[in-house]
Amino acid sequence: MRGSAMLRNGIMNYARYINAVSAARKPSPIRELRARPMCDTTREDASCGAPVKVAELLLKSPKTMISLASGMPNPNMFPFEKASFTIKGGLKITFGPDIMNRALQYSTSSGLPELISWLKDLQKCIHNPPTINYSPQQGQMALCITNGSQDGLSKIFEMLISPGDTVLLDTPTYPGTIIMLQPLGCKILSISSDQHGLIPQSLSDVLSKWKPEDAKNPRSDIPKVLYTIPNGGNPTGASMTTERKKEVYQIARKYNLLIIEDDPYYFLQFEKPWAPSFLSLDVDGRVIRTDSFSKILSSGLRIGFVTGPKPLIDQVVLHMQVSTMHVSSFTQLMVLQLLQQWGQDGFLKHVDRVIEFYAKQRDAMQLSAERWLKGLVEWHVPTAGMFFWLKLKGIPDTHQLITKKAVQKEVLFVPGNAFMANNSIPSPYVRAAFSLSTPEQMDLGFERLATLIKETV
Ligand code: PMP
Repeated sequence: MRGSAMLRNGIMNYARYINAVSAARKPSPIRELRARPMCDTTREDASCGAPVKVAELLLKSPKTMISLASGMPNPNMFPFEKASFTIKGGLKITFGPDIMNRALQYSTSSGLPELISWLKDLQKCIHNPPTINYSPQQGQMALCITNGSQDGLSKIFEMLISPGDTVLLDTPTYPGTIIMLQPLGCKILSISSDQHGLIPQSLSDVLSKWKPEDAKNPRSDIPKVLYTIPNGGNPTGASMTTERKKEVYQIARKYNLLIIEDDPYYFLQFEKPWAPSFLSLDVDGRVIRTDSFSKILSSGLRIGFVTGPKPLIDQVVLHMQVSTMHVSSFTQLMVLQLLQQWGQDGFLKHVDRVIEFYAKQRDAMQLSAERWLKGLVEWHVPTAGMFFWLKLKGIPDTHQLITKKAVQKEVLFVPGNAFMANNSIPSPYVRAAFSLSTPEQMDLGFERLATLIKETV
């Protein structure tokens, strides 16, 4: 692939994307010290509250040093002693005293080193990102662990967006992203999508208001960021084709955009081979990707991870240092132990079991849709994720219907306008999830929806 015209010596200028708040972040001397891999658990927080020079001194000090500097709590005073978890299928995870001490103690902001390493191997194996062997300045692939992908996303946007910026969003989209962006004072430009996700031509059309050279002008309001959900879109269930991804990536190169690839449904792609991710196409280091274990291991454990160019990941970690500090050591260790016992093969076998379940659920919803909604509703069968996106014929706006009449009929959906940046625009769509309901409930739900539509139009 030819180098992008926008890159200086083939290198992205990441400073262009990082806003003033993020650029002003300084590393915490305490947290930085903790991040050094050589520190043992009793010495790693030796600096707690100490200025950087003292921290460096402590780090270099011999093991015989008596440190009265550490501000870490004494784990002997924690009430929890040991724990064991039984994994479906028979495996056991045990937290003996050492692991328990680690699980209950502060740890590094970017995530437990062993878990980062496991996840990096996974990313390499699945996505083979071109950036793996780049230098840090070139956007070498880095990874940090976040409290679900939501935490990663909000820190990414808070790093990139300044008031008055313009952000490109595929539409309709995840409301969690919309409400994250709105208070940041940016303008949202909607890019149309269909059953194959974001439409490259729509992206080109929206960007045609600017010239690619505007990206070199710091005063231009040309968008710098494109956000998209490439697989099993929430709410649309749509998945982007490889061709589209390639086209979108080329447009991003032309206009020097960063791509935020929010992919929590990646492991819920029902058909193999799985589509290549934006990360796997990322020759420039312009993709920052959020992954989630919420749909496949647990949503309550809150484990997600952000993968992208090191200069950007470093800024996300600086934010973590002053906010959450790190994802719970306890849950990271739980997940780490599970992944280590499973190995990558075991993990992917588990993913296959999850896929089998959701594919059956999808089929059940499709069957009920065929039975009850034919002629009344238009839809596409999703190939990933958890959602059907239903267009109700003859009903220009579903909001009243769903929030009033459907409730009386004892059936619930999410009205389409909940997924629009401007939710005052009428939407004929509703989102139906097939994750939790039984096939019988889906069937009854769609029967009730059909009655409702017939009574309304
Ligand atoms: N992005 C999308 C598109 C989602 O649908 C969700 C959750 N429903 C998230 C991000 C956040 O997921 P989590 O924080 O649980 O990883």
